[in-house]
Amino acid sequence: MENCIFCKIAAGEIPSNKAYEDDKILAFHDIAPQAPVHIVVIPKAHIAQSMNDITEENAAIVGHIFQCIPKIAAEAKLESGYRVVCNCGADAGQTVFHIHFHILGGKKLNEVMA
Ligand code: 5GP
Ligand code: ZN
Repeated sequence: MENCIFCKIAAGEIPSNKAYEDDKILAFHDIAPQAPVHIVVIPKAHIAQSMNDITEENAAIVGHIFQCIPKIAAEAKLESGYRVVCNCGADAGQTVFHIHFHILGGKKLNEVMA
């Protein structure tokens, strides 16, 4: 999709510090990390703007992302634990409207989630 930062990252038009990549998804380190390890996982294709657009047709890629997250977390040495976050919409502070999941870890995370 035009003017989508994450589509540009997926296409290599904007450089990123990659943590994992396969034919369907890309994981890269967040430019403004909110934890010692902060990785963003995206589908390469602009299949959905947010969680609200997940359908029977595109849910498989979300399943694939969740299947890969433990591998990405292990590679990032998050053996003591990590948190997966998906901001959906304005109240959650979503800023990039290409569905994505944050992996946060590398320290004992706040017990209060919101
Ligand atoms: P959201 O707030 O939409 O859930 O998360 C978007 C995330 O993308 C933010 O944590 C932000 O720091 C990150 N981000 C935005 N632009 C870039 C970029 O150009 N490169 C990288 N690596 N991360 C980005
Ligand atoms: Zn996009």
